[in-house]
Amino acid sequence: MSDLKEGEELFAAVNWWQNKSYMHPMTCGEHSDRSLEAFLCDGSQKVYLYCPVEGCKYSQTWIPDVVLKAYRKRPQSINGDAPPS
Ligand SMILES: [Zn+2]
Repeated sequence: MSDLKEGEELFAAVNWWQNKSYMHPMTCGEHSDRSLEAFLCDGSQKVYLYCPVEGCKYSQTWIPDVVLKAYRKRPQSINGDAPPS
């Protein structure tokens, strides 16, 4: 188990999900080709997601439980994440 605080672990989990999980990343409703970007705020307690598309004001703080669950069960290898089998 990690000793990360909840917000920090969730932040790591979201970044992993958005970049490496081989799942479809979280996006806003209009820009499904652009992954939401995660920011750790409120003294590392809360993760905010923002759409990176200029002019799009979409943001969310809700993150599905599956993101953290999948992160904790992710396959590990020496150089990070194993390819899908
Ligand atoms: Zn957007």
